[in-house]
Amino acid sequence: MDFKVNVQPSSSPFKPTESVKVLVLGSGPAGLAAALYAARADLNPLVLSGIELGGQAALTSTIENYPGFPEGVGGVELGDLFQKQAERFGARIELDSASTVDLSQRPFRVSTYNKDYFANALIIATGASSNHLNVPGEKEMTGHGVSYCATCDGWFFKGKQVVVVGGGDSALEEALFLTRFASSVTVIHRRDIFRAGAILQRRAKEDPKVKFILDSVITKIVGQKVVEGIQLQNVKTHEDSFLPTDGVFIFIGHTPNSSLFKGQLDMDESGYIQADGKMQTSVPGVYAAGEVSDPVFRQVVTSAGMGAAAAIQVTNFLGKN
Ligand code: NAP
Repeated sequence: MDFKVNVQPSSSPFKPTESVKVLVLGSGPAGLAAALYAARADLNPLVLSGIELGGQAALTSTIENYPGFPEGVGGVELGDLFQKQAERFGARIELDSASTVDLSQRPFRVSTYNKDYFANALIIATGASSNHLNVPGEKEMTGHGVSYCATCDGWFFKGKQVVVVGGGDSALEEALFLTRFASSVTVIHRRDIFRAGAILQRRAKEDPKVKFILDSVITKIVGQKVVEGIQLQNVKTHEDSFLPTDGVFIFIGHTPNSSLFKGQLDMDESGYIQADGKMQTSVPGVYAAGEVSDPVFRQVVTSAGMGAAAAIQVTNFLGKN
């Protein structure tokens, strides 16, 4: 007898399917808070974690402004706590990412490489990703001295000299974190005024390991196999210079992870999903929470709050529909 094993290619139209009441995309503070609230409303939410379990918060060394942690809390630790709390009430978290979505009809179809999900309501909490400088050498040296995560890579720079690019809270916070490992941390900022809050500015200026190069931009990252230095240009004098360094940590803001929804949901010109005060997007039943729809606050506490609000709205929506 001719016996054939039917191996189903994962990209075939015959992928396994699953129907869920609430699908949450993203496992940062917004996604996990949404999952917690949806789980407590008996909606059995499924969370597709995305590439970064815990979202950007998990890449942060210490979070000092999340209420309830007077001594601060590690980003990974806080993400773990969020996850455990959501799971305790029945949320499921899958380490998977959506690759396509169809929001043209309910239930909404969300496909990953392995599976098609059909969801009665969707909460988008896909967050934002680090911006790149887009200078020569950056791409080639990523992972070889160029980093976007001090928590992940700081340890590799024990006793070495590093630079941090940016003038916001992230840059100064991570510069201070890097002083635990590096022998010196030079902050390079394109202006002479910082966006970062006053406390961080004061701490950075008082730290003997932190130096500043202001009004300057990196024009090239130089190195054979690993970073050896950077080419700088002073934006006021246009003077070029070379600074030897072992590492380049880049914290110059973020771009919302919303490309999956382009053409299906209303967005602003920067790609932030437009949601109203009730987290409702332009498609009824689709809600957005956290940094994918928030160009303003972008805090762990505000993202978590938006996630909770989205889940409350989903509960109301499913009750009526
Ligand atoms: P941000 O506030 O947008 O700051 C980005 C910084 O990068 C700015 O100083 C900007 O310079 C600079 N920059 C942007 N593009 C650049 C380029 N191409 N080349 C060189 N420099 C460039 O981003 P963030 O620091 O990631 O903070 C994002 C949000 O998270 C903020 O709301 C912040 O308050 C929040 N956050 C809070 C904390 C905390 O409270 N502890 C920690 C981290 C982040 P310009 O100033 O010249 O525009």
